[in-house]
Amino acid sequence: MGTQVKILVTNDDGIDSPGVWALAEAMSRIGETLLVAPDTQRSGSGTSVSMRSDTSIMEVPSATQGIHAYAVGGTPTDCVIVGLWRLAQGDIDLIVSGINLGGNMGTDILYSGTVMATLQGFYRQIPSMAVSLAINGLEPQLSFDVASKVAELLALNMTNGAVPSHAILNVNVPSIPSELVRGIAVTTAASRSYVRLVASQQDGRLGHSWSPQAAAELGIHEGTDIWAVSEGWISLTPLRPAVTDHDSIPALAEHVPTLQSDLQRAVLGGTD
Ligand code: MN
Repeated sequence: MGTQVKILVTNDDGIDSPGVWALAEAMSRIGETLLVAPDTQRSGSGTSVSMRSDTSIMEVPSATQGIHAYAVGGTPTDCVIVGLWRLAQGDIDLIVSGINLGGNMGTDILYSGTVMATLQGFYRQIPSMAVSLAINGLEPQLSFDVASKVAELLALNMTNGAVPSHAILNVNVPSIPSELVRGIAVTTAASRSYVRLVASQQDGRLGHSWSPQAAAELGIHEGTDIWAVSEGWISLTPLRPAVTDHDSIPALAEHVPTLQSDLQRAVLGGTD
């Protein structure tokens, strides 16, 4: 290959997270890696954009050859925008977000900063992938070995065209010893929440905890992301963000003449 593949890495856990560095190191084995992450923990920031002109961008020392790292005073989406346009001048072949400390599955992906950061790639037809380690908080120590190797293999196959890359690839890896991982499963996103959000009793602040139940107890269907990970599979879910509810269109359209005449009467008729 003539020129090196250029990869933008981010995640919402912040520039100090070991997960984002494990991912950047894996990507540096494939190509030139630009790591741009929030300067603080920004999990749950979804698609949030700061819309500020004074976003701070600070270069961070990197011990690994081939990784240029920056901390941004903003959200993961800010990081992708800054990385893509300000730092790389649009010259990025792949966007990878992760390795998140916690699964991003089911309906939680809608507020996940890890997954939603990749939307910027999706909208610009840049192959994009999110990688999460579905930790349960009880591990004596975390291992990114499986997740970073899967990320590396998928990144290779996305950049050489072997794996379809017109959808966002959402990857969730079970946090279990590598010899217990059963393999790779293509899944759908479960239509329920995986991480339970709970309001703390003491100070009224919002806290969150990971659901400890098995997928079976949650009523999770076979073939979904939450099911796969709870059964020891690495879950690959292709995501194509589309927000229109086509089923509602006929009923809504049918009601429009009534709405129209009511609106006309209210605006033009000067009723009370
Ligand atoms: Mn996170």
